[in-house]
Amino acid sequence: MANANSPKLPAPREQGAPPRVRFCPSPTGNPHVGLVRTALFNWAFARHSGGTMVFRIEDTDAARDSEESYAQLLDAMRWLGLDWDEGPETGGPHAPYRQSQRMDLYRDVADRLLAGGYAYHCYCSPEELEVRREAARAAGRPSGYDGHCRELTAEQVAAYEAEGRPAIVRFRVPDETITFTDLVRGELTFTPENVPDYGIVRANGAPLYTLVNPVDDALMEITHVLRGEDLLSSTPRQIALYKALIELGLAKDIPAFGHLPYVMGEGNKKLSKRDPQASLNLYRERGFLPEGLLNYLSLLGWSFSADQDVFSVAELVEKFDIADVNANPARFDLKKAEAINADHIRRLDVKAFTEACEPWLRAPYANWEPERFDRAAWEAIAPYAQTRLTVLSDITANVDFLFRDAPVEDEASWAKAMKPGAAELLATAREKLGAADWAGPEPLKEAVLAAGEVHGLKLGKAQAPVRVAVTGRTVGLPLFESLEVLGREKTLARIDAALARLGN
Ligand code: GLU
Ligand code: ZN
Repeated sequence: MANANSPKLPAPREQGAPPRVRFCPSPTGNPHVGLVRTALFNWAFARHSGGTMVFRIEDTDAARDSEESYAQLLDAMRWLGLDWDEGPETGGPHAPYRQSQRMDLYRDVADRLLAGGYAYHCYCSPEELEVRREAARAAGRPSGYDGHCRELTAEQVAAYEAEGRPAIVRFRVPDETITFTDLVRGELTFTPENVPDYGIVRANGAPLYTLVNPVDDALMEITHVLRGEDLLSSTPRQIALYKALIELGLAKDIPAFGHLPYVMGEGNKKLSKRDPQASLNLYRERGFLPEGLLNYLSLLGWSFSADQDVFSVAELVEKFDIADVNANPARFDLKKAEAINADHIRRLDVKAFTEACEPWLRAPYANWEPERFDRAAWEAIAPYAQTRLTVLSDITANVDFLFRDAPVEDEASWAKAMKPGAAELLATAREKLGAADWAGPEPLKEAVLAAGEVHGLKLGKAQAPVRVAVTGRTVGLPLFESLEVLGREKTLARIDAALARLGN
């Protein structure tokens, strides 16, 4: 039975050998925050313990998997800085790391399970299964597979075969209670009626997740399985399969399991991967920093310390311990995510900040002619922007006044700032700014202050029409620094344009 594709039994691991964890998504849809949280916890666990991070692609569902999702997964991991020691493109001793390239191996394992009596052919049709399941439910009995094909005689098998019935391969779960200590939830016990025999290979020969996932964990010598709570019910089944693999010499130890808590979204409902709020790309496009997002996502089920929730990735790695993960559902709080991201933006040095903003200063975000971009002006204004942004994409609207011929026309801002009296104030401000010494923001502030005094207005009120005339908006970066960077000539021209619009 063993052939060139037979799984090679790995050499025994030394005592105290470093842990091996895996992140093993299916390439379907867009990466989402729940997935990233799982990747992050595995990665932090590996990096904290000096272990190995294995990245495996579970692409055995040709109908749902796509190359585009595969590429997005790799891109997301790289953007986040979650590197892997073994996996796609990197390779490693257990290559290939894409399940679609490991099919011979799964067939071989399934054959060995069948030959050893650990699995059997099940000829029940879906309709028959459904009828019996209903009957079991009605009678108040467990509704899992009832073991119908467990002990078929040779005659019964021959009869089914003669009928041309398709057969799946079903794993025989021993009738014993399964107990394991979850790294997050403590000891968990599953009684046999809750762990029925289950399919591992489809009638068409395609191996199922239920087989390929634990088989790869075994062959890749995974020591710790950290994954979402939604997979908890598959763990006792996988432990039963693991025991068979150990008896067949295909696995050494059952890994430790830790099930990470659910992430709840709006209305305290489970955040589904289809929820737009869950899409990683959304956070990327809005300009979350990878370290800001990782910081926030690490807090979904874990905490750094009682009085600190902003920390670097290095600090996270140093502190991370799966034993500190909380079993209770975690709530995704966008406001908190933004606040943490804002803190990370402040932590960048100015050069890193200006570089991080670059994508939002170009198409499709920029609302100015590309050739009008002025690097010197950008670098002059950047330090003022850095202390004010929550997400990097906000930069575009904050600096567009520097790169456009005319400020954006924002009617709401205009209506708010250009109340009666605004024209008079603007005319005085123009005069004072025109006479001011344009050497730093201070004289410009004094000019507007003085203009306000003429009309009995405090600085805040006097500032508003000037800001809207020059930037188009009621909110933005510090005004006098903005005027200075824009320059005297353009500032005065914009005030003139506003006065003209106001009929003066
Ligand atoms: N491919 C599986 C999933 O994305 C992996 C589950 C696991 O971590 O065991 O749900
Ligand atoms: Zn059956």
